[in-house]
Amino acid sequence: MPNKTNPLKFNFDNSLVRELSGFYVKSSAEHAQQPMLVKLNDQLAKQFNLPLDGLTPNQLAQIFSGNQLPIGAEPVAQAYSGHQFGHFSPQLGDGRALLVGELLDKVGKRFDLQLKGSGKTPFSRGGDGKSALAPVLREYIISEAMHKLNVPTTRALAAVTTGDNVCREKALAGGVFARIASSHVRVGTFQFFAARGELDKVKQLADYVINRHYPKALNASKPYLAMFEMIVSNQANLIAKWMLTGFVHGVMNTDNMTITGETIDYGPCAFMDIYNPETVFSSIDKNGRYAYKNQPNMALWNLARLAECLLPLINTDDNTAIEIITIALNQFTEQYKEYWLNGMRKKLGLTTKQPNDMALAEGFLSVLQHQNIDYTNSFRNLTASSKKIMVLFNNTALFKQWYNDWKNRCDAESMSGDAKSILSDERVKRMNAANPIYIPRNHLVEAALKAATSDGDYSQFEKLISVLENPFKQRQGLEKYAAPAPQEFGNYKSFCGT
Ligand code: AMP
Ligand code: MG
Repeated sequence: MPNKTNPLKFNFDNSLVRELSGFYVKSSAEHAQQPMLVKLNDQLAKQFNLPLDGLTPNQLAQIFSGNQLPIGAEPVAQAYSGHQFGHFSPQLGDGRALLVGELLDKVGKRFDLQLKGSGKTPFSRGGDGKSALAPVLREYIISEAMHKLNVPTTRALAAVTTGDNVCREKALAGGVFARIASSHVRVGTFQFFAARGELDKVKQLADYVINRHYPKALNASKPYLAMFEMIVSNQANLIAKWMLTGFVHGVMNTDNMTITGETIDYGPCAFMDIYNPETVFSSIDKNGRYAYKNQPNMALWNLARLAECLLPLINTDDNTAIEIITIALNQFTEQYKEYWLNGMRKKLGLTTKQPNDMALAEGFLSVLQHQNIDYTNSFRNLTASSKKIMVLFNNTALFKQWYNDWKNRCDAESMSGDAKSILSDERVKRMNAANPIYIPRNHLVEAALKAATSDGDYSQFEKLISVLENPFKQRQGLEKYAAPAPQEFGNYKSFCGT
C-alpha cells in the first residue's frame, strides 16, 4: 500500500520530457472531487509490473483520476496541429489529455501513459479539458476490442468517474480514461513545428521518432526517408485492418493519426453492420469525408501532409525532395492493396496467391452489398454446410456464381488429405481464426453505456468487455452478441467524445 514511507512508484522513464523540451507544456490534472474506479485492466497493468496489488478501488481511483500520481510521473500536455476535415488548425494540442509518463514494460519496451479528461491544460482553448463518462467507457470497450481483433491500437488501462459533473448539452457525470500507447506523436505533431517554420524542431522530432520507433532507419542511407517509408507501410497495414474488420474511425484528422500506425482517439467511430462502402456514422461528417470506403484515400492524404513537413529533411532542393518523397508516398496504395488482399485471402480461407484473388474478394463484397448482408457474419457464414449456406445468402444466382468460383479456387489449392474439400476442418479452423464472430455491435455498446451512465449499472459494460476478449471463439449462450442490430435500432449516428 502506498504511504509516506513506501510511496507508489511506476517504472517511468520520460524520454520525451527529457529530450524534447519545447514540444510540450508542463501541466497537471484538476482535482477530482470523488473519484471512483470503474475498471482496471489487470492484465495490461501486469505487463508493466505496476505495483497495484493490494490497492483498494478508492486508491486506484485516486491514481487514475490524476489526484495522486505515482512517483516518477512528469505530467505534460503535448503540442500539435492538425488538418480537421481538410482545414488546418495550427494550434490544437492536448486540450483534455495529459501525458503522465513513459512506462517500460517487462521487456523494456517504452509506452506512454496518458490520462484523458483530467481537466484544463494550456491547450484547452475554450474547452474544459474534461470528458463525460460515456465516451470514456466507449473508448475502453472499443480500443480493447480492436486489440483482441488484432488491429494495432492504443490500449485501455483504466476508467474512473470523477464525482464531478461536466457541462455539455446537460450536466453529465465526468470520467477519466487512462490509456497506453506506443507514443502520442501524431502527424499533427510534425505539422505544428513545420507550420511555424521551425525546421530544427522538425528534425529533432524526426530524430526522436527514429530512435524511439524506427531504429532500423538509422542503418539506411537516407534515414528520414526510410522513417517515412516505414510510417507509410504501418499506416497501409493499419487501414487495411480497419477495412477488413469493418471499422469506421470517423474522424481521421491529421491530429488523430499516430506516427506508429496505431489506431488512436476513438471518438465517433463504429463498426459497420450491413456491408455498405458509403457507411458514415459520425454526426459531424456531413459530406462523408471519412466514410468507410474513403479511409485508404484519407490516410494517403494525411501522409501527404506529413511528407510536406519532412521535405527539408529529404533534400535541400525542394523539387528533388518532392520527387523523392512522392515515390515513397505512392507506395501506400500498392502496399495497402497487398495488405488488404492478404487479409482477404485469410478471411476466405486461402493460403496461396492467385492472380484472380482480387476479383474473387471484390466479388464477395459485391454480393454482400447487393443483398444487404451483415459484413462480419457473412465471413463466418461461409463455413456453414453447403445446404445452409445458400439459405444464408438468399439463394441468389449472384451468390451461387460466386460460391462456385470460390469453391474452384479452394479446390485448386494443393493441400494434403481431406484438406482439399472446400470445408475441410483445417480450412474452417483457419477461417474462424481470421473472421471474428463478436465485434462491438453498436446497439450493444449503446445499451451498455446507457445502463452505466443512467442507472450506474455496469453489468452490460463488463459483460461486453468479457465477450470481446475472445472475438474469434464461438461460445454457447452468446448468440445476442453475434447478431446484427434489430431493425428498430435504425441508422446509427455517433457523436464526438467531447
Ligand atoms: P478530438 O477531435 O477529440 O481529437 O480533439 C481535437 C482537439 O480538441 C484536441 O486538441 C483536443 O485536445 C481538443 N478538445 C477536445 N475536447 C476538449 C475539451 N473538452 N476541452 C478542451 N479541449 C478539447
Ligand atoms: Mg484527437
